[in-house]
Amino acid sequence: MGVGEFNLIQACFAGQGGNPKSGTRLGIGDDASVHHLARGMELVVSTDSAIESIHWPNDFPLPQAADRAVCAALSDLAAMGAEPLYAWLNVMAQDSKSVSAMGDGACAALARYDVELSGGDTCRSLVNSLSVTVAGQLPAGTAMRRSEANEKDAVWIVGKAGFHALGLQQWMGGKKKGYFVNYLQEIKPKLEAGVRLRELGVRCCIDISDGLLQDAGHIADASRLAMDIDLSLLPGWDILCRKAGEKHALRAVAHGGEDYALLLTAPDAMRFLDGFAVKIGHCAIGSGVSLRVGKRSIGVAELGGKGYDHFD
Ligand code: ADP
Ligand code: MG
Repeated sequence: MGVGEFNLIQACFAGQGGNPKSGTRLGIGDDASVHHLARGMELVVSTDSAIESIHWPNDFPLPQAADRAVCAALSDLAAMGAEPLYAWLNVMAQDSKSVSAMGDGACAALARYDVELSGGDTCRSLVNSLSVTVAGQLPAGTAMRRSEANEKDAVWIVGKAGFHALGLQQWMGGKKKGYFVNYLQEIKPKLEAGVRLRELGVRCCIDISDGLLQDAGHIADASRLAMDIDLSLLPGWDILCRKAGEKHALRAVAHGGEDYALLLTAPDAMRFLDGFAVKIGHCAIGSGVSLRVGKRSIGVAELGGKGYDHFD
């Protein structure tokens, strides 16, 4: 006899995660959860999937993979400037032990960021995977959007780019204790920074999940402008070059996703106290993203292609 689906849900999910929010009228246990939103606030919702062998190496610990999946989902709320409130967790597992391992990691991340676990689904699957839906709130009309960059804006980053990709390379190459590996093991969604940026009046932001080149391109396309970025201004650029060499640093920054830094645009004169956002470039009239290191332009050939695409 197995442990049973209902018992597993009770043991692994009910009462786990962050504290229940005041807006929750009904949490785990019914067919759906019910939430109240205060007047003047909007709900921001995002969903993300993570699949073994696609989003994490199959020799990676399951709790850590699930923790990362939750943090990746929360990063989308950070990019919009939303305060996180709720999560719904679909756990698709090969066996009950895997349910429990993924539950542990996911709930630890939700507890760390005080996000209520409001529901989900638990089922057997041929491949271990999770799907995480998150919801947060912000004052109506203030969500930061990809389409709001202005051609006179400067471009800024909060956090590092390229470190995760090099960590993954080290892990896959058997260097499980390599310098960059801890950037692979833990994602830190920039939730407080996202709220702070939105409160400062920033209108345009994205989280870097698919590499700087692709994600900057999303802002450029949506806002119908060009963007020029100097990689040598990136936080940690010198460390990347010193430890991995410039060629690998370039590719890791341009194409290596999952650093979950925030990329934003704001008026050039904007000052971010204590330098929590770092200016790395400018917007301009035109289209597309140009990368350079100091004065030297970096072509697509030097970047070894255009980046990761699940269906390319
Ligand atoms: P239903 O069959 O009505 O969809 P389930 O039996 O799948 O309900 O789930 C029972 C309750 O447990 C629901 O409230 C559901 O949201 C919750 N639940 C199931 N799996 C999870 C999970 N992985 N994380 C959080 N809550 C879960
Ligand atoms: Mg039901």
